[in-house]
Amino acid sequence: MTQEEPSGDVLSQGVMSTGEGMRIFPDVEACIDCGGCVVACKRTWDREIGNQRIDITTMLEGTAGPQGENARKTARLEAGENPGETSLPMQCYHCENAPCVSVCPTDALQKEDDGFVTVTDDLCVGCQYCLSGCPFGAPQFPDSEEGTAQIVGTGGIMDKCTGCRERQEASKGPACAEECATDAILVGGAGEIADELEKRDSGPFFNDEAMRIIFGEEDAQLFQ
Ligand code: SF4
Ligand code: SF4
Repeated sequence: MTQEEPSGDVLSQGVMSTGEGMRIFPDVEACIDCGGCVVACKRTWDREIGNQRIDITTMLEGTAGPQGENARKTARLEAGENPGETSLPMQCYHCENAPCVSVCPTDALQKEDDGFVTVTDDLCVGCQYCLSGCPFGAPQFPDSEEGTAQIVGTGGIMDKCTGCRERQEASKGPACAEECATDAILVGGAGEIADELEKRDSGPFFNDEAMRIIFGEEDAQLFQ
């Protein structure tokens, strides 16, 4: 059985529902690499310089697709064609089969019953195993020192996207998604996100293995 869809009001085209069972997922057709999500997150959570809970990865910057426009990127990628400039907001996707949780030796990381992946600061020993386990570069170590401390993993407490759990508990969307000018960060149940991507003629961008990590075996099939 697929995961039950979360309930909640439709807040925008990008934030379809909030709360228990929600997922966060990027739409690469819509992202224009403006950095609005990064700023919204840093401002909302008062993150210091050098600590970003969202990192936008841009491939082929400034490159047009074959028809001179950057559209249908995921379809082009699947066909092995030049997708043109493609930007991907990378943050914690609160994976269903979270590898960070599996590798954390102290249980500082947990997949909670409501779907959020949380970190308990007091339990984190800064080993950075989660950084090795996460395929999406989400774990950050803002207090790590330069040099050997980083290499051997004594780098302070891990920090990552919380999914704006507190905001969601108040029926608000994550700050990044609510402030994205192009609705490139989707929030909702797996089915809602799959439907929205289809409506936009977009796609999931990630390969099958990554989709199984993020959504779990059954819900990943909603995107095929
Ligand atoms: S593997 Fe990465 S993206 Fe997935 S829940 Fe863990 S930190 Fe978040
Ligand atoms: S750095 Fe902290 S959260 Fe990451 S694996 Fe080690 S103990 Fe767990």
